[in-house]
Amino acid sequence: MAYQTDPARYQNMAYRRCGNSGLKLPAISLGLWHNFGDTTLLENSRQLLQYAFNLGITHFDLANNYGPPPGSAERNFGRLLHEDFHSLRDELIISTKAGYTMWDGPYGDWGSRKYLIASLDQSLRRMGLEYVDIFYHHRPDPETPLKETMRALDHIVRQGKALYVGLSNYPAAQAREAIDILNDLGTPCLTHQPKYSMFERWVEDGLLDVLQEKGVGSIAFSPLAGGQLTDRYLQGIPADSRAASSSRFLNPEQLTTQKLNIVRALNALAQRRGQKLSQMALAWVLRDDKVTSVLIGASKISQLEDAVGMLENRHFTADERAEIDTILSG
Ligand code: NDP
Repeated sequence: MAYQTDPARYQNMAYRRCGNSGLKLPAISLGLWHNFGDTTLLENSRQLLQYAFNLGITHFDLANNYGPPPGSAERNFGRLLHEDFHSLRDELIISTKAGYTMWDGPYGDWGSRKYLIASLDQSLRRMGLEYVDIFYHHRPDPETPLKETMRALDHIVRQGKALYVGLSNYPAAQAREAIDILNDLGTPCLTHQPKYSMFERWVEDGLLDVLQEKGVGSIAFSPLAGGQLTDRYLQGIPADSRAASSSRFLNPEQLTTQKLNIVRALNALAQRRGQKLSQMALAWVLRDDKVTSVLIGASKISQLEDAVGMLENRHFTADERAEIDTILSG
């Protein structure tokens, strides 16, 4: 059956300006790193995309290497776009990235002009798109001159293959340098995509300040720490969870007694606030307006509903903030 869009889809989502740009992003974005590769049923991926869009989630985030296998998330997304979203391209923000290993040899990795331009061409072919909305350099390259990488991003925008560019995983000082180069080239950096959650707070040591000073937005990835900052693991490890899969990004050893005690204390606080832990964890990342959008993953529609339910209570009292800091330090 053809996809039925919900006419009310824009009513409940918050759309937040990305830095000093003209672009607004949904407070919640959906990442396709998991659950869109060839190991997931296409129909499950289809339902997630359709449901997310009907909740007002207009931003879908990909990378050349998402799958597994690498490239398959873009290919499957391209098919779903073609089948379900063909008349909706102008309502979508689609991002992709290059920076990690994608193909053999010296030109399929890191940050050379050769790699970035070839990789984006491949991504566009896999997705069946003429352009992406945001193209990121996925991680800093210690060898390629920063100017070469930034010139490649600038070139890609001038070619019309991306509307905006961004950086991911750049530490504060390097981000500042890259942002300045992009400004000099006339292609401002739209956004930075760092890992940020209650369990991973490195961005608070300078990066968020640099972004604010420079008028660059930020999109926080893994805001639920891959599912750890939810009630998913409070009664053991469910068979259908990321920790039970062979994912090298979350394994049972990471779910220590100490960590689960912290999660339980956070869960109790979330309940007192009248929300789920996953909702409190997302609201917390957005608490100071320094982060434009939280970039979640979801394996089930109920997880998308949970995320959007967060919008009903984003406020934290000073006492709640202090209590969270105390719990996290335990
Ligand atoms: P999250 O921290 O949001 O983790 C998502 C996982 O948490 C879900 O797949 C699900 O796992 C579980 N979960 C989500 N909601 C709930 C809920 N309400 N209750 C219980 N469990 C829940 O993000 P990800 O780590 O998935 O990353 C999100 C996106 O960030 C990626 O898709 C990608 O786009 C981007 N990313 C970017 C990187 C970069 O270098 N730039 C690196 C990594 C990610 P389960 O399978 O157990 O159901």
